[in-house]
Amino acid sequence: MSEATKPSALAAEASKYLETLQEIRRDLHQIPEFGLQLPQTLQRVLASIHGLGTITLGKQTTSAVLHIKGGQPGPTVLLRADMDALAVVEDTGLDFASTNGFMHACGHDLHMAMGIGASHLLATHADELKGDVIVWFQPGEEGHGGADVMIDEGALMASGSLPIAAYGIHVFSSYPLGMFGSRPGPLMAAAGGMTVTFNGAGGHGSMPWLSKDPITPMVEAIQALQTMVTKRFSAFEPVVINTGWIKAGDDHTDNVIPETASFGATIRTFSKENSERIRKLVPELLEGIAAAHGVSVEVEFHPATKVLMNAPDAIDRVETVIDQAFGPGRYWNMEHPIAGGEDFASVLDAVPGAFIFMGACPPENDHLTAATNHSNKAVFDDTVLADGAALLASLAFDALNRAAQ
Ligand SMILES: [Zn+2]
Repeated sequence: MSEATKPSALAAEASKYLETLQEIRRDLHQIPEFGLQLPQTLQRVLASIHGLGTITLGKQTTSAVLHIKGGQPGPTVLLRADMDALAVVEDTGLDFASTNGFMHACGHDLHMAMGIGASHLLATHADELKGDVIVWFQPGEEGHGGADVMIDEGALMASGSLPIAAYGIHVFSSYPLGMFGSRPGPLMAAAGGMTVTFNGAGGHGSMPWLSKDPITPMVEAIQALQTMVTKRFSAFEPVVINTGWIKAGDDHTDNVIPETASFGATIRTFSKENSERIRKLVPELLEGIAAAHGVSVEVEFHPATKVLMNAPDAIDRVETVIDQAFGPGRYWNMEHPIAGGEDFASVLDAVPGAFIFMGACPPENDHLTAATNHSNKAVFDDTVLADGAALLASLAFDALNRAAQ
């Protein structure tokens, strides 16, 4: 390893890019786009990575994969930046706030800027790379399955071989500024939802015995799901089921028994076993309740993210490289996973690696009370961009150097 590609040297070099990265991030912040088609965002990213390597664009979505070829042959490392915004009307008062009805309220504008910064660091020192790096710019993270579309289109194999390691960073507006957090094993939940419909038979509210009321079994089912979580799953492996909406009848009418009653719930699990088990136990429970009341029930599960699993070895390297790059005290090992979902889990299901959280709470805010990611008031301190870029580039060098040993 030459002096120039040591983590501390990359961190120093990245800090010279900080203003440029902030400019890029603020440009992106003003043109947030939603879902899988992000044409303006893609153009802004492409303008910033021009000439750094080969670029492959997605077919079904506006994804881009930058392939930086190393000076020496070797395996590949994958770095990932997500690109999409949320349908949130921004209320931050920032002078670069979005005005188009969407908002980078989850900090993906910072992720793109970090990915661009890392790409420049890696391309500058490409002659010292003992292998290749592919940098994913991925649309549709917020529940649109963008990572899975890229995988289906072959983006894991963009360099010709399956990467040996994959890394991504996620910023949080309510985590302490500049701190990196992660943990070995599960970091984020398998997140998915379901729609449940009870089918009865409509009738007059004065004579329920002559029809089949679907509302009562639905209410029982919503309660029973909470009991099922505590009685059928280990208290040491959390499962979250939360009903988010219910729908039955008509709010102008008290005396009619409706034909159907339905509800939607989100489901979070932290192991493959529980993700599979819940899909078996929920229909069993709900069909039992329906049968007891003489109605029928349909349970439809929506596609879920996988549990985001960090490889323990990769977390060891993350901790070491953070120490080498920025000095001690910048990494904290998180005690618990978080219940949010993330489609980078699909990448980490195929390639060992790690996802790392980074605190970006502005120093004038108290991180314990700051508006969280997805809030219309979430504010991210973009002075973290240089360190984020340096960490991604350093992890790529680290994985390739170790593989060459
Ligand atoms: Zn996010």
